Amino acid sequence: MIYENISLKKYNTFCLNIKADRLVTFKLEENAIRYFRNNSGSAERRLVLGGGSNLLFLGDFHGTVIHPEIEGISLEEKKEDYVIIASGAGIEWDRLVEQTVNYGFGGLENLSLIPGQVGAAPVQNLGAYGVEVKDTIEKVRAISLSDGSVREFSNEECGFGYRDSIFKKDLKGKYLITKVWFRLTTKPKLSLDYGSLKEEMNKLGVNSLSNVRKIVINTRLSKLPDPRVLGNAGSFFKNPIVDNVTAENLKRKYPRLPVFRDSYGNNKLAAGWLIEQCGWKGKRKGDAGVSDKQALVFVNYGNAKGRDILDLSEEVRKSVFEKFGIDLEREVEVVNPI
Ligand SMILES: Cc1cc2nc3c(=O)[nH]c(=O)nc-3n(C[C@H](O)[C@H](O)[C@H](O)COP(=O)(O)OP(=O)(O)OC[C@H]3O[C@@H](n4cnc5c(N)ncnc54)[C@H](O)[C@@H]3O)c2cc1C
Repeated sequence: MIYENISLKKYNTFCLNIKADRLVTFKLEENAIRYFRNNSGSAERRLVLGGGSNLLFLGDFHGTVIHPEIEGISLEEKKEDYVIIASGAGIEWDRLVEQTVNYGFGGLENLSLIPGQVGAAPVQNLGAYGVEVKDTIEKVRAISLSDGSVREFSNEECGFGYRDSIFKKDLKGKYLITKVWFRLTTKPKLSLDYGSLKEEMNKLGVNSLSNVRKIVINTRLSKLPDPRVLGNAGSFFKNPIVDNVTAENLKRKYPRLPVFRDSYGNNKLAAGWLIEQCGWKGKRKGDAGVSDKQALVFVNYGNAKGRDILDLSEEVRKSVFEKFGIDLEREVEVVNPI
């Protein structure tokens, strides 16, 4: 379907009242291939938009927004130890997680309740509660926006890193991901080392995938503002990675500073803590604010513009730099109007 001059308010979780010149949706991969082939060499500005839960629009988008609505979750292979599940890019991420947990397939349970579509999961290597989606992705199918050619990327070719992949670097804005294959285990080993997961599991008594999902959902609901109620895009900044010397120096000065080791062996600081220490938690400037539940989340109280949220985030970034010497890097992607 093609829509002209359309509001993107329901397509971005900051609930910003902005428009796109054109929105093109695809229910079938073949239609996307045909569209990009027929428009090969076009100079139109394009943006692939999933659930809009990691984007901050600074104004109307003058160009074509591509929105995949490709459905379908299928069991592609079943072995004793693992299964391969394929999912269309347009499936809501949490619907996939729920189904895999219901079937008893392990790997995605810690990633429950993250907004967005399956197609975006490999782009930023979705992660939460000590787990990253890269550990389950078998391969990714994508269509070139410039000529409609189809390419499959193995896990290695995706170039995954912390909230990073080839789709955010060399291939940024070049492909529409249409399908993702996941390798999930039939003999789940639960990942409970993060935060209070183990403690909460002990309270429930039974170690199971569905209980991990339940705990993650409850924790998220209690700690993060719900974008259906209060516009936001989750963590606005990445947790900064620092070398050993910096981590030790900061820890000496601020003994309560949370420093943890990630799966890449890096020292990671809690960006939310740094922001909170600068006094920003719950602060508001007009309709742009820093959440009172989690200082790493910026919110739209109603009529904020993208620019208001960006300006506030820059003030926060500056004060964190002045106090701790740490330059926060944005996790949310800013989309300029032109
Ligand atoms: C309340 C809340 C909590 C969150 N918690 C987490 C969390 O715990 N961990 C985490 O990692 N993230 C989290 N996020 C951020 C966000 O949900 C994820 O980054 C999610 O993967 C984005 O999916 P999306 O479909 O909304 O992508 P969008 O925001 O629409 O797009 C993000 C990027 O991916 C590209 N893209 C999207 N779909 C495709 C596709 N099919 N093909 C090619 N490129 C595509 C876009 O062009 C853009 O560059 C949270 C967000 C919110 C609002």
